[in-house]
Amino acid sequence: MNNSLITGIHHVTALADDAQKNVDFYAGVLGLRIIKKTVNFDEPSIYHLYYGNEHGHPGTVMTFFPYPRLRRGRHGKGQLTVTSFSVHTNGLDYWLKRLKKFNVDYSAPQTRFGNEIFLTFKDIHGLGLELVFNNEDQRTGFTYGPVPLEHAIKGFYGVTLSVEGYERTAGLLLNSMNHDLLSESGNRFRYSASGKPGDYIDILCVPDALRGKAGSGTVHHVAFATLNNITQSEIREKLLVNGLNVTPVLDREYFRSIYFREPGGILFEVATQPPGFLIDEELSNLGKALKLPIWIEPARAEIEKVLQPIHFDSETFRELLS
Ligand code: ZN
Repeated sequence: MNNSLITGIHHVTALADDAQKNVDFYAGVLGLRIIKKTVNFDEPSIYHLYYGNEHGHPGTVMTFFPYPRLRRGRHGKGQLTVTSFSVHTNGLDYWLKRLKKFNVDYSAPQTRFGNEIFLTFKDIHGLGLELVFNNEDQRTGFTYGPVPLEHAIKGFYGVTLSVEGYERTAGLLLNSMNHDLLSESGNRFRYSASGKPGDYIDILCVPDALRGKAGSGTVHHVAFATLNNITQSEIREKLLVNGLNVTPVLDREYFRSIYFREPGGILFEVATQPPGFLIDEELSNLGKALKLPIWIEPARAEIEKVLQPIHFDSETFRELLS
């Protein structure tokens, strides 16, 4: 049995409303690469937009289902409430200016766990985000025009799961998903499969909070990465033995996935690292054309008629802040 069935975070998927605003925020304001433009395989009239680093490596991939005119959701317990991106410590002033320039409301810089400096803000749909300024993340940043490389996002730092009580969610991470407890402070408990920035899972105990409600600006699920189909089937067995209600393996074209709801109410996915985003387009062309899996391709004409056209011009978001 492999001890590291889960290698870390694979992707985070959230609900949004306007697709163009989504592109402007994530590719423009945050400077991520659009790595795949496809549709929700379970609802092909809706986009599935993927952002990430150059290759769309696990741990950098943020994805959205933008439903036009979708009502705002409510943040609360039983939800992944904050998605944190990792940037270098030296980027604090740059990002303060940048967020201000694009009229993004952010809270004053705060610290936790001693030396971890972070900024909290919301995206254009109300999704909870953070930038965490740190020197530990050894990954190279990535930028597709708007943000200078030295200040660019490196991928996720981690995510925050807001739940009623931490014990059962923690038990799942520790016993079935090869995570370790790294630190705790107040009502925040940090776990990780790899021990590195990119893979931090913070459980926040918020017994008095209202229950979260799905809608625009809320996270749909978090996906954990596993090496391949074999490790995925091992973890599936393990989860089933521990009483979780796990779906069969689903083909998501760029990875294969299983889904289950963790005890705190949050939807978890375990996605295989292969085949990845280069399966249907060249590296240099990632995200440019609308890609459809073979079983949806026959409906392309109909689908293209209902999807709102989206475009991205990095010049609009290039700026002179240094
Ligand atoms: Zn997913």
